[in-house]
Amino acid sequence: MKFNTKTIHAGVHPDPATGAIMTPIYQTSTYAQPGLGEHKGYEYSRTHNPTRTQLQNNLAALENASHGLCFASGMAAIDAVIRLLSPGDEVIATNDLYGGSYRIFTKIFASCGIKFHFVDMSNHANIKAHINDKTKLLWVETPTNPLLKIIDIEAVATIAKASNALLCVDNTFASPYLQRPIDLGADIVMHSVTKYINGHSDVVMGALVFNSKDLLKRLSFIQNSCGAVPGPQDCFLVLRGIKTLHLRMQRHCENGKKIAHYLKTHPKVSNVYWPGFDSHPGHDIASKQMDDFGGMLSFSIKGDKLEDAQAFISKTKLFTLAESLGGVESLCGHPASMTHAAIPKEEREKAGLKDSLIRLSVGVEDVDDLIDDLKQAIG
Ligand SMILES: *Cc1c(COP(=O)(O)O)cnc(C)c1O
Repeated sequence: MKFNTKTIHAGVHPDPATGAIMTPIYQTSTYAQPGLGEHKGYEYSRTHNPTRTQLQNNLAALENASHGLCFASGMAAIDAVIRLLSPGDEVIATNDLYGGSYRIFTKIFASCGIKFHFVDMSNHANIKAHINDKTKLLWVETPTNPLLKIIDIEAVATIAKASNALLCVDNTFASPYLQRPIDLGADIVMHSVTKYINGHSDVVMGALVFNSKDLLKRLSFIQNSCGAVPGPQDCFLVLRGIKTLHLRMQRHCENGKKIAHYLKTHPKVSNVYWPGFDSHPGHDIASKQMDDFGGMLSFSIKGDKLEDAQAFISKTKLFTLAESLGGVESLCGHPASMTHAAIPKEEREKAGLKDSLIRLSVGVEDVDDLIDDLKQAIG
């Protein structure tokens, strides 16, 4: 089955009781058991819920993986992965990382005795420099947030395999429409389903997908023991959102491309970060591992003044100032004061993240209206 068919059909089936085409919302915490030790695969909804099962199967299929698990948020999914580790273990992670991932690593798990190294993974020597026999996990985000750096998933997977470490890829920015890390050798793919996968800015959810039966056993145990599961209503909404993932992504990519080119020629714009440009340092790898370049881009205004970023943000009308990304509506953000505020200024600047940087999540509106809005806001 091709991707555009999977979004609609994979992992879901008409309801056996009624024939309902759409997966019902099984709003129940528990299930009648016909006799002692007998059940129909469902005992309690923290462990399993039929609406969640269909969503998990659908997500696994989209990523060409065997198993999927959904969590109450992207952060809960990340939490479950790190719980696979033990005190003394080490993790090597992308330095240009989602702020919440940096926060859970450094503020929650570092005090449990897990050591994190943050490196620029576009240079493989930086990864190899930190690998030792305690390295149990490599954590990759690509494209990165907000500088849209590209990391070669296949190359990092080779390094991970050679050192018996797991590779987890946060695929939130690309979505499975653009990039399928399992095919490139990753062990686990993590998603903030909140973003492109759901796509309508009305649910917070996370997911993990993977092939290994051993990971299924261990991660299901963590999911059930720690209990950060999504409710059936949210699973239904995400299943509905996914049915148009391919259509939305196609338009996000088209609009993103036109806006990147518009900004590039704007006399007041100094840098545009978008992997579709030939001049982008990760362009060749992006062309190899992604099917298109997505609807996320960042830019800075000439002079690199915080006031200019503030003025832009106060003038936009269609681009709404908000956290998050990947919804049908266009959003703009100021990483230094919003998504990346948890990262100390010193660390931010080391990663090249200036105070003047503006991030756009380009929606699926008419691109001419979006460009008009940018034009009047940049001035
Ligand atoms: C939003 C986001 C997360 C966290 O997901 P939540 O659903 O907000 O908990 C993790 N990684 C990336 C890249 C994100 O954009």
